[in-house]
Amino acid sequence: MGELLPPYGGTLVSLYDEGWEEPPVTMPVGENLIQIIGALASGALSPLRGFMDREASRSVVEEMRLPGGLPFPYPIWLPVPPLFARRLKEGDRVGLQDTHGNAVALLEVHDVFTFDPRWKPCLGPEDVFPPRYPHVFLGGTLKVVRRLWAGDEPYSVRELFFRRGMTSLAGKALRDPLFRDTEYLLRLVLEEEDGVLLLLYDDDAFGLPARLRAEGIRRVLQSYLPPRRVEVVVRPWWPVGGHVRKALLGAVVLRNYGCRRILYHPDDVGEDGVPGGRGGRNYRLLESWLSHFAHHLEVTPFLSFQVYFCDGCGQLTTSRTCPHGPLEKVMMNRERLGRLLQAGVTPPPQYVRPELARYLLGWTRGGRGKGG
Ligand SMILES: [Zn+2]
Repeated sequence: MGELLPPYGGTLVSLYDEGWEEPPVTMPVGENLIQIIGALASGALSPLRGFMDREASRSVVEEMRLPGGLPFPYPIWLPVPPLFARRLKEGDRVGLQDTHGNAVALLEVHDVFTFDPRWKPCLGPEDVFPPRYPHVFLGGTLKVVRRLWAGDEPYSVRELFFRRGMTSLAGKALRDPLFRDTEYLLRLVLEEEDGVLLLLYDDDAFGLPARLRAEGIRRVLQSYLPPRRVEVVVRPWWPVGGHVRKALLGAVVLRNYGCRRILYHPDDVGEDGVPGGRGGRNYRLLESWLSHFAHHLEVTPFLSFQVYFCDGCGQLTTSRTCPHGPLEKVMMNRERLGRLLQAGVTPPPQYVRPELARYLLGWTRGGRGKGG
């Protein structure tokens, strides 16, 4: 029997270390950073072992490579208040705590650096960063003292698929509760791959909380796809959200979960509703970067065209296989689907399975959604 694709860089990083030595200084970190620490600790961002220092940041921002040469698309930064940073130097240890004062991790400081304005043009308008404030970052390696991602770690998800005898996986970062265009993509790849991993972003996309979207996904799986071949992991921090470099980072994360086939949809880089094609600027940029990146990452990207329902074909399709004209196409973008759901209106069955629509609308009509 074969094995799942090994993690990026060869080894699945684990930064867990139960030993907490009282650090001389501590700093509170917010939920978003705790999730990034969870990603680092569990190896989802292998081969990284902490937050990037100045040299790694320069190299990643300007050349999309780590200093050792391995391609890496996105800087992983620990922003700190400038006044606090002034007290720190190389070799110091900083305790990172959650907002209740509980210990999360120890950072051994490599350097303290400020955002270099020369990096800005490299990042491009599609990448929203750096954070406006503060512009000061701590680079260093982490020892993480609390299990943050129990059950969802790359190690346990790899084990799960492996125990099911699956060795070839596809992966997709997503925000939707498995609308039919995403289901269409899963069908395509499940013809070839043993399983699919979905990374669901925990925000309020489509006006629906993530736990609701995750449950919606499970309902579609129960009725329309082999549920054992698809797993969903929900996290508040995933590299999704309309930025090309983030979409590339998604490939690194999925690779660390063992996925060799990475699925993209035009929406993943903020180009919802590009009719019939994948001609948007961001999507072309993603495609060109992936052509450099994918080889080193040893993954095969699958960039879908916009999926739509065609009356002529009588099914969901893309401009790649459908010969019909615009009058037969029922185009519907996700933004519109979200608006319908939030307004309590049943979306067309060509786009949302009735079981899923009933479940989601039960929530919004029950007055628990925005605007009730
Ligand atoms: Zn057609």
